[in-house]
Amino acid sequence: MFENYVSPWMDEELHIMRDAVKKFVAKEFAPRASTWEKQGFVDRDAWLKAGEAGLLCASIPPEYGGGGGNFRHEMVLVEELAYANVSGFGNGVHSGIVAHYINNYASEEQKLKWLPKMASGEIISAIAMTEPGTGSDLQAVATTGILQGDHYLLNGQKTFLTNGQSANLICVVVKTDPAESASGISLLMVETELVEGAGGFSRGRNLEKIGMKAQDTSEIFFDDVEVPAENLLGDTEGKGFVQLMEQLPQERLIIAIGACAAMETALRHTSEYVKERKAFGKRILDFQNTQFRLAECYTEARIARVFVDECAVKLADGKLDATTAAMAKWWTTQKQCEIVDACLQFFGGYGYMTEYPIARMFADSRVQKIYGGSNEIMKLLIARDI
Ligand SMILES: Cc1cc2nc3c(=O)[nH]c(=O)nc-3n(C[C@H](O)[C@H](O)[C@H](O)COP(=O)(O)OP(=O)(O)OC[C@H]3O[C@@H](n4cnc5c(N)ncnc54)[C@H](O)[C@@H]3O)c2cc1C
Repeated sequence: MFENYVSPWMDEELHIMRDAVKKFVAKEFAPRASTWEKQGFVDRDAWLKAGEAGLLCASIPPEYGGGGGNFRHEMVLVEELAYANVSGFGNGVHSGIVAHYINNYASEEQKLKWLPKMASGEIISAIAMTEPGTGSDLQAVATTGILQGDHYLLNGQKTFLTNGQSANLICVVVKTDPAESASGISLLMVETELVEGAGGFSRGRNLEKIGMKAQDTSEIFFDDVEVPAENLLGDTEGKGFVQLMEQLPQERLIIAIGACAAMETALRHTSEYVKERKAFGKRILDFQNTQFRLAECYTEARIARVFVDECAVKLADGKLDATTAAMAKWWTTQKQCEIVDACLQFFGGYGYMTEYPIARMFADSRVQKIYGGSNEIMKLLIARDI
């Protein structure tokens, strides 16, 4: 049924890219997905392979090693990973978020230093906003980065970092002026090879989660860690909050695209299953309850797709506002959870067994309502515009 609808932002070049990404993911990632889930992280060589294939930093200009594409190229990647049910590869954070902080706010020298290695997969990146004491209330971050001569002295703790175990470049949200709220916030790029071993920087364990098991998620600690002064993003301190607010719509849309693709994947798996499985001498699909519930799910998935496609076109034109991005994030992730749950029900007991993709999709989907700004915070943002 999804084949009847082609997103308006797709073109010939993107169809070719989609085909190549699909083949790459099927050959290089899908066969390893269950190993990554068991070990709790994606192997580093997979990042290098993705880099070689041109899958990293697809929307970063070629002069910095990127693919020279735009947000539509990132969308294809997010979708194809979701269609293959490969949930651990943290490229949304790496290419879709951190690379864009660098591309938008870093100096020419910094861009040339980090982006080409991010595009090749030699550098894996992460973003550290959340702290044990504050997540939703970003202005209340307590980690400090105080300028002392030629370096910033970092103290504090961050948590729930996607790619936290593997990252060698971390965009850290700090207070450069702890007396101030939003205007005291700056973004500092921490190169782990400079601080690891120098004392003061450490990573916590790989946190155990109920889903997204192949994605490494960690705490990090700073105890008098020295970061070169030139690793500040932007030309002056105090710009971090504005930079975050500018980039968060893109992050939220990446989550919404993942939600759409997950709904579509769940419905594909379920449609196949209900045509095969029989009860009371009939296919599960022949029960009217199945037909009606799936009809509702397909309709909602289509509505989500149309809305997200419209947001994507706006984002590519630089016209996606924060309120609309918040609408897309909360609604699609809410629907993702409802639809995956409804789909799982049609699998009966098999839906609860992790060997069935729908079971993993159920566990993976839950976090979508929490990260990237919780859905309650999305509603607050929308309500501010009323
Ligand atoms: C798997 C995973 C990966 C993550 N990756 C990253 C990452 O890479 N980098 C990063 O920085 N963070 C990351 N996070 C953190 C995530 O963004 C935060 O968990 C999220 O923003 C919520 O913050 P919190 O956990 O501190 O919850 P809290 O802020 O403590 O909120 C708790 C509950 O209260 C609600 N709430 C809070 N304030 C209000 C309010 N004003 N009105 C109504 N309700 C409210 C929230 O919606 C939530 O339901 C990740 C989290 C997970 C689980």
